Amino acid sequence: MSLQPRPSILSVEPYIGGESKLAGVNRILKLSSNEGPFGPPPKAIEAMTAAALDANRYPDGNATALRAAIGRKFGLDPARIVCGNGSDELLSMLILAYGGEGTELIMSAHGFMMYEITGRWAGCQVIKVPERNLTTDVDGMLAAVGPRTRLMFLANPNNPTGSILPQSEVVRLRAGLREDVLLVLDAAYAEYVTRPDYDAGQTLVDAGSNTVMCRTFSKVFGLGGVRLGWAYGPAGVVDVLNRVRSPFNVNATAQAAGIGALAEEGWIEKSVAHNVAERARVAAALTAAGFTVHPSEGNFLLVGFGDAARAKAADAALKARGAIVRMMGGYGLAECLRITIGLTDENTVVIEALTAFAHDG
Ligand SMILES: *Cc1c(COP(=O)(O)O)cnc(C)c1O
Repeated sequence: MSLQPRPSILSVEPYIGGESKLAGVNRILKLSSNEGPFGPPPKAIEAMTAAALDANRYPDGNATALRAAIGRKFGLDPARIVCGNGSDELLSMLILAYGGEGTELIMSAHGFMMYEITGRWAGCQVIKVPERNLTTDVDGMLAAVGPRTRLMFLANPNNPTGSILPQSEVVRLRAGLREDVLLVLDAAYAEYVTRPDYDAGQTLVDAGSNTVMCRTFSKVFGLGGVRLGWAYGPAGVVDVLNRVRSPFNVNATAQAAGIGALAEEGWIEKSVAHNVAERARVAAALTAAGFTVHPSEGNFLLVGFGDAARAKAADAALKARGAIVRMMGGYGLAECLRITIGLTDENTVVIEALTAFAHDG
């Protein structure tokens, strides 16, 4: 008998990240991973440089100063915050802690891929609920719940669709779930949302013992490369995360970078203002060119090209101009591309390439 992992592992399709290189192209416009376009905040760079001098020392295993800084910034109790090596790590720990063989995990059909990947790793049965208009269907999600359901994931706004549920719908979702089902609100794009009624998750976390919110420094804060995320949860969930995480799961450079990023005055405001204006400009231009631009609350647009072959051709037209975006076949949206909002000149290249593509066929 040859060596074999647990059977569910082999049902996992490896995560394919956004591409970052093109043969023969000098200036790449990397618009494939929803990274903030402005680079890391200067204060984060300063803090990482300083931290390098102490790299012989283990980090603070409790990320105390970082949790305090997050708590101050977002008005949360630091004791109820757990930091992770990217929010991906926190999502994984939640699935492994609350899911596993014999349990079900529910997500929406075009929800974030990592829920399925880790769910299968854990041995959960992963149930994907059809969406309406590329938006999570609350009634469908609730109807999918069975006695073995332990986890439900909602990315709000969702990646890759960009769609969002109003707070009233998120509240209705939680209210319709049993007490023994953990609702994970993945708010990776929270900082970008400008709707007045938006709540990234704090209200529902505080209202009970079975809702947790995950956040990241990878998007608006421009720190995808350092791997830093955080969760805010009820005391019981926080206790579980602190039991299962490895003792030094957030490295010293990441902790320093996070503290520096939070201290950068006006960073979120500048990023959001840029995103709102540029997202509208790109959306209007691509709509005028005849493509389907789905409404987005994130720093990206899901653009429909009618069918998979046309999306592939559009991708090639973008690549010819050095722009790398994300193909969506893995998300069951092969007729679409997901395009991150970049710097103004990068977005202009996207507009020009796709407008020319529309004219040339
Ligand atoms: C990018 C993203 C994440 C992952 O964030 P990391 O902190 O870099 O691991 C999680 N959820 C969603 C919906 C994302 O788009």
